[in-house]
Order: sequence, then structure tokens, then C-alpha cells
Amino acid sequence: MTSFALLLLYVLVVTLPLGVSWIFGGPPRPFWAELGSGLGMLAFSMILVEFVLSGRFRRVSSGIGMDVTMRFHQVMARAALLFALLHPFFYGGSAVGGPRPWDPTRVLTVSTDLTAMAGGILAFVLLPALVALAVYRSDLDYKYETWRLMHGIGAVLIAGALLHHALSAGRYSAEAEMVWLWAAMVAAAIGSLIWVYLIEPARARPWRVTEIKRLTPRQWSVTVTPEGHAGLDYKAGQFAWLNIGHSAYSLHENPFSISSAPDAGADVSFVIKELGDFTGALDQVAPGTRAYLDAPYGSLTVEGRDEPGIALIAGGVGIAPMLGILRQLRLTGDPRKLRIIYGNRAEEQIVFREELAAEDTVLVLSEPPKGWAGEHGMVDGDLLDRCFTEEEIRSWLFVLCGPPAMMDAVEDHLIARGGASDRILSERFDYG
Ligand SMILES: Cc1cc2nc3c(=O)[nH]c(=O)nc-3n(C[C@H](O)[C@H](O)[C@H](O)COP(=O)(O)OP(=O)(O)OC[C@H]3O[C@@H](n4cnc5c(N)ncnc54)[C@H](O)[C@@H]3O)c2cc1C
Repeated sequence: MTSFALLLLYVLVVTLPLGVSWIFGGPPRPFWAELGSGLGMLAFSMILVEFVLSGRFRRVSSGIGMDVTMRFHQVMARAALLFALLHPFFYGGSAVGGPRPWDPTRVLTVSTDLTAMAGGILAFVLLPALVALAVYRSDLDYKYETWRLMHGIGAVLIAGALLHHALSAGRYSAEAEMVWLWAAMVAAAIGSLIWVYLIEPARARPWRVTEIKRLTPRQWSVTVTPEGHAGLDYKAGQFAWLNIGHSAYSLHENPFSISSAPDAGADVSFVIKELGDFTGALDQVAPGTRAYLDAPYGSLTVEGRDEPGIALIAGGVGIAPMLGILRQLRLTGDPRKLRIIYGNRAEEQIVFREELAAEDTVLVLSEPPKGWAGEHGMVDGDLLDRCFTEEEIRSWLFVLCGPPAMMDAVEDHLIARGGASDRILSERFDYG
């Protein structure tokens, strides 16, 4: 699906409850009360759609890219939080029931029935906590898998609490049509979790690690082979959630770009940099270990593009998807021009040097050794101007993967030099 179609679908789904309550709801109330209800309903439907925007649905993330999907998820979560927190304050004097002793001006009074409000109050507390824990995840010292589990459980609790709140305290949501709509939307949201964490793992086919070797002091090559099935149907440059040595139902899975070419056979390879729990323990993985792949995901592919040339620009382990693309282009005898820019800090970090040397490759080091014949410094605008003509910048396809600062500098420079944003493809390894 294209980005536009996805955005349209998103707007339609999140505004569906507003449309249905407008058609089936009773006579309109004062403007501020209507605004309060509208914001509340919008927040609830946005929160339910967040379940599907969790990145594990190929139709969503393949159209716009995984990083864009996750950024959209994060921005919409903040917007939904704002709407949810604001909405009770709009009811003011039109609230149900009489004023509370502690709220003589009735600014804060929404309902006097605490049972009806319980779900809303619970969600009012849980939702900011869930968003704050996600925003500050990397500053808090706990495992990614623990966070993922808590995020999922918290989201389900909030959805349940909001359903209770909408049905018991909501005026429009008391209509039969709205009860059905909310029930269907909550079922779809929870169903998406059941799909990702129970049904997909039940259908997962096993793989086995066939080769694991250290490429550089902190980078590994890992290859897995399908066990009893034909393997994966993927495009060069896509990525997989890789689970090594755990049950298919485990949350211990991490995303890695595929560095092998689809046409090279059924084996799938990765280049993995040591970083934390999983990647730092690769030296303990033995060949023969069972693995599972949830794949393919991502949209970093050059298939179907008609630009006359392709520039693959990588920083560090961002070379992984570029290797997949390069290998596929060579296997299929692709006639398009190809240039690779590959930046690293030190010479010892360069992987697959011989293979890359056979191509039009520019190696860039920020801390080069004495006598280094390649480029010095960062992969930035000046370097791009030395490596590409203006015509190439305007007409080629640029594929980027690397540290955020490098990607931002390259993207900005390409656009400033007349490159078109639809001819820049990028993959970020960190959702932020
Ligand atoms: C689309 C994509 C492609 C990637 N491709 C590669 C690649 O080809 N080679 C490579 O070395 N690295 C790649 N990464 C980064 C890689 O996923 C992380 O370095 C790895 O997951 C770290 O795991 P860890 O347990 O060793 O470290 P931890 O210390 O547990 O995690 C460090 C950080 O990695 C991220 N991370 C960890 N687990 C997950 C998870 N399950 N899902 C999403 N993010 C997670 C989180 O931001 C976390 O804070 C890619 C990331 C993404 C999003």
C-alpha cells in the first residue's frame, strides 16, 4: 500500500467512531461538551490503532518503511495522550450529576458515578506512564524484552479500561451502534497482538545456524539455513526479526538486515555488530543452534526502480543491507551504474573488503591509519560533492543506512543539491 493510501485509511479508521456517533447519537450538546466527547473518542480510537502500528504488519511497514511506521506510532501516541488528558476538562458545567464539594465551579466534574469513571481514571494514570516509559526507555536501565512485555500488557490494560470508560460514562458510546463499533475495534486491536505473539509463532518454520564467524573485532557474520522448508521469499535490502536459541513464542528476537541475496540460495546471512545482551553474546552461539525468522520486513529495496544509477551509502554496520542489494544486483547482471560509499571510524572495522574492492567503492575513515589511500573524514556533503556529479545527484537512486548523524547530513545535502526525496531510500537501525 502507498503512503497516501495508508494515511487515508488511518484517518478513516480513527475518525470512524466520530462519524458513527454523529449519525446515531442524540441531539448535540454545548460546543465544549461535544469537543470533550470528540477528543475522548478520537484518543480511544487512535490508541486502538496503535496496536496495528506496532511495526509487525508487513502491509503497513513495507509501504512506508519500518522506521517511518515506528515514528508515526510514537507521534500518534503522544497526540492520543494529549487528547485523552485534555478531554475531561471540556465538560465543565454540562457534566452529569451535581457538583462535587471539592469542585464548586464544576470545572473538573464529569460524572458523580465513580464506578462509571473508574476505567477512565485508571487509563488517565496508566496512559502517561506507558508513554513516558517508552519515551525514556533508553535512559532506564532495563532489558528491551522486559520493556516490550510491559508495553504490551500496559496497552491491553489501557484498552480494557478505556472500553469500560467509554461504555459506562460515554454519552455517544452508550448507543448500540457505538457499543458494537468499540467492541469490534478493541477485538481487532487485541486480535493483532494474538496474531503477532501466538498465531505467527505457531506457524513459524525452524531454521538452523550453519555459520557464525567474527568478521572484525566487534562484527559477526551469521548464516542460517531453512530446516524442512524452502526458506524465505524476500527482496534484497529487507530485514528479519531473528531469534536464535529461543522458543518461537519468545520475545527474544531482534531486527537485522539481510546481507545475503535472494537469488544466492535459501541460506540467509546477517552482519551483526556487538551492542548489548543478544549481540554481545554471539560468541556463545554454536553452529547447529535452532533459529526462527520473522520476515521479510522493510522497504529498503531497489527492485522495480528505473533510475540510471544506484548509490549505496553506508556507515558502519549499515553496510549489511547494502551487501544484500549489491549481491543481488551482481547475481542478476543488473546493468545500472553502481557506486558504494562506505564510512567507518577505523580500518579494522571494514567488512567484506575484497568483495567491495571489486566495485566502484569509496572507503571513508574518520580515523585513518598512516598512509591511508582512501577518503578521510565523515560521510558528509563535501564528500558527496567529490564522489557524485550534479547530474548523478539529480537522477540516481540513493540508498542510505548508517548512524543518524550521517543519514541526516547526506539526506539534507542531497535535497539541497537538487535530489528528490522519493529517490532517497533509508533505513534507521534505531527507532529512537
Ligand atoms: C530495521 C533494523 C535493521 C537492523 N539491522 C541491523 C544489522 O543488520 N546489523 C546490526 O548489527 N544491527 C542491526 N540493527 C540494530 C539491532 O537490531 C540492535 O543492535 C540489536 O537489536 C541490539 O540488541 P541487543 O540485545 O544486543 O542490545 P540491547 O542492549 O538489548 O538493545 C540495544 C538497543 O537495540 C534496540 N533493540 C534491541 N532489541 C530490539 C528489538 N527486539 N526490536 C527493536 N529494537 C531492538 C533497542 O533500541 C535497544 O535499546 C537493526 C535495527 C533495525 C531496527
